[in-house]
Amino acid sequence: SGEPGPGGNVRPRLTVVSGPSGVGKSTVVRELCRLDPNIYLSVSVTTRAPRPGEAHGDHYHFIDQARYDEMVEHKELLEHAHYAGNNYGTPREPIERALADGRPAVLEIELQGARQIRRSMPDAQLVMLVPPSWQELVDRLTGRGTEDPAKVARRLAVAKEELAAEDEFDVVVVNDDLNRAARELLTLVVGTASSSLNV
Ligand code: 5GP
Repeated sequence: SGEPGPGGNVRPRLTVVSGPSGVGKSTVVRELCRLDPNIYLSVSVTTRAPRPGEAHGDHYHFIDQARYDEMVEHKELLEHAHYAGNNYGTPREPIERALADGRPAVLEIELQGARQIRRSMPDAQLVMLVPPSWQELVDRLTGRGTEDPAKVARRLAVAKEELAAEDEFDVVVVNDDLNRAARELLTLVVGTASSSLNV
């Protein structure tokens, strides 16, 4: 994947963006999709409750455990994982449609899911977004104020494990600056810059 195809365009491909909670994955990925609206951003399903400001179908499809179990059983998910007390998964069909339409697809998921994609789709590109420093991540997770302290502690423990898996990724991108990180990701997702981008 990634070689120039007919017409000089890079072949559509799947990019997984992973990295610890609090590193700013969603913000960077949203900026990426603003820069190139042709990119298809996967909308995951989750059994966790919506946070204030999260709309159904925008950030996530919020579903109950029974529907989640059904999606797993019917193989409707490209990958799925249990994370910090909740279940998450990537609906398979929209990804397949986007790739068939020639659009690059991006998944913003945690480590276990990234590993499943690595096994099931060896051509996928795995990118890990990391904080400029550990302290920066602690500050961001504490400062978000949307989770109770026990949950923050749990996410920090998981974050440590996620960062230790850097070697399993094709590229590591440092989220030192939103615009810089988004542009670096853009070159990874779409290859060389095209004239139709909002950059
Ligand atoms: P949050 O609850 O903070 O939105 O997400 C928690 C973690 O789950 C984040 O690391 C996020 O990237 C990850 N996540 C979101 N959707 C999916 C998914 O469909 N699959 C997997 N494996 N992880 C996901």
